[in-house]
Amino acid sequence: MSRPGLDVARVRTDFPILHQEVRGRPLVYLDSAASAQKPRAVIDAISHFYTHDNANVHRGVHTLSERATAAFESARERVARFLHAKDDKEIVFVRGTTEAINLVAQSFGRKNVGPGDEVLITELEHHANIVPWQMLCEQQGARLRYIPVDKKGDLALDRLDELLTPRTRLLAVTHVSNALGTVVPVKELIRRARARGIPVLVDGAQAVTHFPVDVVELDCDFYAFSGHKLFGPMGIGVLYGKKERLEAMPPYQGGGDMILSVTKEKTVYNRVPYRFEAGTPDVAGAVGLAAAIDYLERVGMEAIAAHDRELLAYAEEAVGQVPGVRLLGQARERSGVVSFVMEDIHPHDIGTVLDREGVAVRTGHHCAQPLMQCFGVAATVRASLALYNTREDVDALVRGLHKVREVFA
Ligand code: PLP
Repeated sequence: MSRPGLDVARVRTDFPILHQEVRGRPLVYLDSAASAQKPRAVIDAISHFYTHDNANVHRGVHTLSERATAAFESARERVARFLHAKDDKEIVFVRGTTEAINLVAQSFGRKNVGPGDEVLITELEHHANIVPWQMLCEQQGARLRYIPVDKKGDLALDRLDELLTPRTRLLAVTHVSNALGTVVPVKELIRRARARGIPVLVDGAQAVTHFPVDVVELDCDFYAFSGHKLFGPMGIGVLYGKKERLEAMPPYQGGGDMILSVTKEKTVYNRVPYRFEAGTPDVAGAVGLAAAIDYLERVGMEAIAAHDRELLAYAEEAVGQVPGVRLLGQARERSGVVSFVMEDIHPHDIGTVLDREGVAVRTGHHCAQPLMQCFGVAATVRASLALYNTREDVDALVRGLHKVREVFA
């Protein structure tokens, strides 16, 4: 069950939620791409914060406020180190990937995208990296363009040079597709975009959970991810932005903490990143996220990456052999998810039968409807893998799929 480098049996003992029965069967959790489970270390860190340190940040001179501020700012440093950012002031705490992308669209976008300009995204994107750009383009009279995806689930990079035009103001691209698992060669895309002076945002929601990410090496302008997919709490996420980019951007929301001074007539905005953190932040969330990162780094991101690669290969092979199953997405490099359909059986029915067997998977369009349209399907079944999953989990999924076949025979 366990592999050299990653003791999965030991890892599983760190996740209390996994040790339960669902519908009389041991829980097999294969939905971490939607939201990952939390190790005890994260749950304890949040509980410790509320038990000992809870107070509002930045504004108080009393001890608890100072402690809460220190915990919040040290979480920012922790995230900066995790992404290998040069400066912790490049880390903006937000609610999640969705809010991070909306922030860039409404702040950077409104300032830099005008009538007739273009924003370039891809057909692989989650709605979180489509809709904010559609809204921006509608507001600004700009045009949203897409890098196409081929039948295997790879981006058609031979189209890139023609799609990066003198009107392109931003390229926004996912690092890993949540629906197909395609790992996008973002480094190459960034190099080609930056050669033309075009900034790049990377949606890292499905990447940071599976392999180490270095924003300086990538040389991206923005990188976004969500805490809850990284084994941290819900309600906290991160926008990394190069300091000079963030400094040139206007605030996204107005309110407390994002100001230096306010008169009846005028507000002087705070420096970055606080300029983008209006209102009371999710301090406990940031503390929990830092604990999740500490946990992952204790386990080892390289070991996690090796485990995930090995388990994905096993899962693709095993699921692909179930009669009637068609796997979607054969991209050159894949990570984290097995997406499939079964002849004449609706994905929701498959998900319902699997749930009766204790197996949790996601079914539907995975918030990637344009991608589903490219593949000519309305929905798929998606099993997603994490560091606590085992070959036995995959075997349970396969047994469940045989059951599905019996039920719908
Ligand atoms: N981007 C990708 C690739 C995702 O998989 C998701 C969530 O599934 C999101 C963005 C949105 O994340 P959140 O709902 O945490 O903001």
